[in-house]
Amino acid sequence: MSEKLQRVRGTRDLLPEECLKFRYVEANAYSLATLYGYGEIETPIFEFSEVFHRTLGETSDVVNKETYTFTDRGGESITLRPEGTAGVARAFVSEGMAQNLPLKFFYSGPMFRYERPQKGRYRQFKQIGVECLGIESPLADVDCIALAWDLLNKIKIANECHLEINTLGDIASRILYRKALVDYFSQHQGQLSADSKMRLEKNPLRILDSKDEGDRALFAKAPSLHDFLNEESSSFFKAVVSGIESLGIPYKINPRLVRGLDYYCHTVFEFVTASLGAQGTVLAGGRYDGLIEMMGGPKTPGIGWAAGIDRLADLIPVDSYKKATPLIAVIPADASGEIQALKTSHQLRSSGHKVELLLSGKMGKRFQKADKLGADYAIVIGENEVTSGKVAVKNLKTGEQESLSTEELLSKLS
Ligand code: ATP
Ligand code: MG
Repeated sequence: MSEKLQRVRGTRDLLPEECLKFRYVEANAYSLATLYGYGEIETPIFEFSEVFHRTLGETSDVVNKETYTFTDRGGESITLRPEGTAGVARAFVSEGMAQNLPLKFFYSGPMFRYERPQKGRYRQFKQIGVECLGIESPLADVDCIALAWDLLNKIKIANECHLEINTLGDIASRILYRKALVDYFSQHQGQLSADSKMRLEKNPLRILDSKDEGDRALFAKAPSLHDFLNEESSSFFKAVVSGIESLGIPYKINPRLVRGLDYYCHTVFEFVTASLGAQGTVLAGGRYDGLIEMMGGPKTPGIGWAAGIDRLADLIPVDSYKKATPLIAVIPADASGEIQALKTSHQLRSSGHKVELLLSGKMGKRFQKADKLGADYAIVIGENEVTSGKVAVKNLKTGEQESLSTEELLSKLS
């Protein structure tokens, strides 16, 4: 006997019930994004590794420890995408889209990260996300956050989430802040994790995104970026915050919020929930004005967010994602009714009805099965029905029964 094959650690088999939730999230996100003027984009699931190395930054956890990278048969280094923004930026540059700004994209699809699997953290997971390219105004940030907030409301989880927002300032502000951070963390080098010691040289801001307890203990007394913001950066952030306020979106300024990836500037934000334990961030994003240039394109401002569907799905209220479409059970009473049962089922489905054709088991068992499936009607078809051209229709909720022709049946159901 051969050994049973297992799922790869950190991957999931999504069964119909879970898939219903995923589709519900995706469908709502897609239709809302459309209302906001976003068009769908689908980029490849793998790219040249360079696409991610250049954009996400060599010191990011994602590039350092989490990518699935392999050499393909042609000798190219390929990486399974760990997130969506880099691929969209690559497409923007390689397809020469800079002439048509602004551009707004929505995407949905699987992402891959070699992380320690636990609830809400998988090695293959799904994200939905949006990217808005070409608008400098802070109101683009507000509009983008408003879309996220509308989505959380639409899928009825907004009351479980809150918005945390911060600014990373512009490059000039960050250079000053970087120096202050290096000074501070250098004084406490002994307490820093090995990763953060490395970040201290390459990207000290990233230390603030560390999940290491020792690192985090140092955060309380670390200098705050807000003390280093220049006039322009402060007024940009004020405009974002007052826009959020004018839309009535509840928020909290979190001066310690930084994002794990290198390309962010100005606005960064997260929608966080207390209901999912350690994996509390359901949606996260920010402004990335330098990204397109890093990819070799013309300087183009951008803002976007991504949300983990696996985490959103865990918050959706029971049954809210199920469509209440009536179910009809069609039951042949004997062998002579089978072909007619097949035809009637086909006709009903062609008219948009949901039909379960129950072909096996004793009659009693088939009725039990219809009940178990939650069927609203049962249609029984035997020799009598074939001869008379009428079928016996039983309303399973009221017990009422009648004999109807196919036309009468269809008009009754519609
Ligand atoms: P975290 O701090 O939880 O590691 P992150 O900062 O790495 O999150 P992003 O890169 O901002 O996450 O991705 C956006 C969203 O995608 C997250 O808020 C989360 O909902 C989801 N996400 C990220 N990594 C995973 C994962 N391994 N499994 C499931 N969902 C994930
Ligand atoms: Mg992560």
